[in-house]
Amino acid sequence: MDTEAKVKVAVIGAGIVGLTTALQLQRAGLSVVLLDAQGPGSGCSRGNAGHFATEQVFPLASIAVLRQLPAMLLDPTGPLRLRAGYFFKALPWLLRFVANVRPSRQQALQRALSVLNAQALPAWQRLLPQAEATDLVQFRGALLVSEQPGLIDLAQTFRQYKEAGISVKWLEQAALRAREPALSSQVQGAIEFPEVAHTVDPYALCLQLYQQFVALGGQFRQQQVQRIRPCNNGYQLDLVPEPNIPQTGPGELALQVSQLVICAGAASHRLCADLGYQVPLESERGYHLMTQSRPLQSPVSSLERKFIMTPMQHGLRLAGTVEFAGINSAPDYRRASVLLKHANQLLAEPTSANPALEPWAGNRPSLPDSLPVLGAAPRHPGVYLNFGHQHLGLTWAALTAEITGALLLRQTLELDLSPYRIDRF
Ligand SMILES: Cc1cc2nc3c(=O)[nH]c(=O)nc-3n(C[C@H](O)[C@H](O)[C@H](O)COP(=O)(O)OP(=O)(O)OC[C@H]3O[C@@H](n4cnc5c(N)ncnc54)[C@H](O)[C@@H]3O)c2cc1C
Repeated sequence: MDTEAKVKVAVIGAGIVGLTTALQLQRAGLSVVLLDAQGPGSGCSRGNAGHFATEQVFPLASIAVLRQLPAMLLDPTGPLRLRAGYFFKALPWLLRFVANVRPSRQQALQRALSVLNAQALPAWQRLLPQAEATDLVQFRGALLVSEQPGLIDLAQTFRQYKEAGISVKWLEQAALRAREPALSSQVQGAIEFPEVAHTVDPYALCLQLYQQFVALGGQFRQQQVQRIRPCNNGYQLDLVPEPNIPQTGPGELALQVSQLVICAGAASHRLCADLGYQVPLESERGYHLMTQSRPLQSPVSSLERKFIMTPMQHGLRLAGTVEFAGINSAPDYRRASVLLKHANQLLAEPTSANPALEPWAGNRPSLPDSLPVLGAAPRHPGVYLNFGHQHLGLTWAALTAEITGALLLRQTLELDLSPYRIDRF
């Protein structure tokens, strides 16, 4: 047994959520051990689109998405895909997802999403200077473009954002050309979100947070937590042995802590199940492809094509798509390649994939109501939950870390956490 007395809090998972959480707790003076089966930032947080997407206040379940569901089975490269063999596994999650399109649910979920989004960037603005990571984030806004002649759908989307209180500007073609000259004439107009930001490298941001955590005395262990068990003074984490490090005694395979935070992304429900909590967490896999050129100033999403292009330090990142296929299935990289065809319709000058950078896939951790699980475990003192950040993990990570820190330190929280509780299902 690892009996290091100073180890008080274990954070399980070193994605962007676990890293911000571990850093927050270590900065607050707690002694933290951060565990991850892989290296820091190796999961979904490594290759996301880098967009601090605070404008996305609408739940993912909507009538528009429901209309696309039948086509999902037919097009392996479409924006939304359910692999045929995974249909029955995903069905319970999808039924819960569909139940959320009721107008009363939509309103409640939009409120709960808006509360997080409104506080997300201020939390990053507090964290970035402390983490010496300000150069990795740019506050240049973002665009949502449309190719539809007449822009009827974009105009309706614009009204929805305005009604939701999001800061938006309408850009006709001339204004759009002035802002992003590299877009093709096929693009008819855009909505600008002037108050959002993007990172030029999500993985570098993870590594910077990790370095800060270690510099403050935080401890990292590259080990998988196989199981969580309540024990006399807290919790015992049974660990899978590291393959390349010889074990010198049975004690190295377990760790006892008095408090722990579950931030294990798309695998979090498995750890929660050890403690008797059943959480309907599903993986929404997404893909990215890096191009050779970097012609844009800020992130550009397409209303019709449902993907995003973000200028990053190693090129333009084309990212998006949702695939329900299970966390352990092999990625289908045709889904990444198709993003290049879309980009070349939107860009005036054709671009090509960067051969030095592999296409990438990551599993978004998603609950059917689009809200994260956030708060203290109701039946297990000392256990805290911070996962299920769906398409907004980068956006929310600094904020949910602050919230988790406040809970551990027993500080007063003004935020009502009831919409995010684990036993809401
Ligand atoms: C294509 C794509 C584009 C995206 N774009 C954006 C965007 O622009 N903006 C945005 O806000 N979000 C975006 N997201 C979503 C965002 O990336 C995720 O919400 C976020 O990365 C989730 O972070 P996480 O830390 O919860 O999970 P992860 O980054 O997946 O980290 C979880 C970690 O837990 C570890 N782990 C799991 N189980 C165990 C265990 N038992 N023991 C030890 N370790 C364990 C894993 O190894 C992993 O490293 C995008 C996602 C995708 C796929």
